[in-house]
Amino acid sequence: MSLINKLTRSLDPLQGVPDSIRQEFVLWYRQAKAPQIRYVAFLTLSLYFVYIFMEYNIATTHRELRLLAHGVLVPAALLAVGLMSNEPRYYRPMRALLMSAPIGAVAANLYLNHDQPDFAAYAPEMYLNLMWTFSVSGLTLRQATFTASTSAALMLIVTLESSLQPGVQCLNLLWILASYSFGMLSAFLLERAHKTMFLHQNRLALSASVDGLTGIWNRARIDQFFADEVARAQRYGTPFSVILMDIDHFKSVNDTHGHTVGDSVLCQFARLLRENVRSTDRVGRLGGEEFLVVLPGTDHRHAQAAARALRQRINGFDFHTVRRKTASFGVTQYCGDDSASAMLERVDRALYRAKQNGRDRIEVL
Ligand code: GH3
Ligand code: MG
Ligand code: MG
Repeated sequence: MSLINKLTRSLDPLQGVPDSIRQEFVLWYRQAKAPQIRYVAFLTLSLYFVYIFMEYNIATTHRELRLLAHGVLVPAALLAVGLMSNEPRYYRPMRALLMSAPIGAVAANLYLNHDQPDFAAYAPEMYLNLMWTFSVSGLTLRQATFTASTSAALMLIVTLESSLQPGVQCLNLLWILASYSFGMLSAFLLERAHKTMFLHQNRLALSASVDGLTGIWNRARIDQFFADEVARAQRYGTPFSVILMDIDHFKSVNDTHGHTVGDSVLCQFARLLRENVRSTDRVGRLGGEEFLVVLPGTDHRHAQAAARALRQRINGFDFHTVRRKTASFGVTQYCGDDSASAMLERVDRALYRAKQNGRDRIEVL
């Protein structure tokens, strides 16, 4: 990995991963952030009520405007954000509000206080606003950067234009810089940690579903696909079939050539299956030299045709060291009120019959 790649990967762990995984992360992150947004919105709303109570008592100017901004508008925006965070279909307007409300709060603060002698008493609300936007609001790094940068730009322009003493002005600039940079760093570190955690989780989930030797779906995962198809068939009445395969006389491969060759034949067999079924079909290893294909939306006639095509591919394939190898096939279609185990038992009987009738053949039950 080049230095540039390493650097961009350390800044963004999702750099270079497939688009589908990035997309999955975005969806997961949106969901995962919703409770945080809710809790933060309600806590901030409560604190604004305390704030307006104090501010109203000590402020000497714009008292009605302060009451309107901090006692009505900001709490109303936060209440709306908190409520919308419960409903995924409102996530878009919720985010828009969450991104614009902090800018509105800063603008209000600057308008109400920038030329006041006690400006220093009100300025912390703006520094906190930057930290809040980055660290606790629940916005993503990109959204928070947009919002906080707009707020900070407003603060800078007004501070530089203001009639503050040069020393106070410099201190104010320092606090803006400090709150912006600390906030941004914490948002960056948090988002990077979440991305890394998501990738680990994703890899773990995949490795728990994949057969270690052949790389196709393992028993647990193919059972799950099977159960999902049964549920779909029960609900919508869509047909589906399964093909159960067992390599013929596989024991002799191990006995004659050793386990390593046996393993490599299993891998080649699995790859043949995967490459010769439809992309919607699921191929899994049940164990040993037994494989199952789940074929959604396929009746037994088409499943039998698929099994025939597979058998033809297998019979014509030049396997490592052992050259020719055959397999026996059982085929069955979902019918009536089948359960997954009833179907598996039936397809197993079909396979047994194929073995009994001389191997290298297909039986449908
Ligand atoms: P049949 O035609 O009746 O299916 O005969 P068979 O020899 O294929 O069936 P049997 O069940 O007697 O033997 C299966 C063999 O598969 C025995 C076992 O050693 C071997 N086997 C199971 N899992 C693996 C594996 O992961 N790697 C290797 N190399 N062999 C395995
Ligand atoms: Mg066998
Ligand atoms: Mg077997």
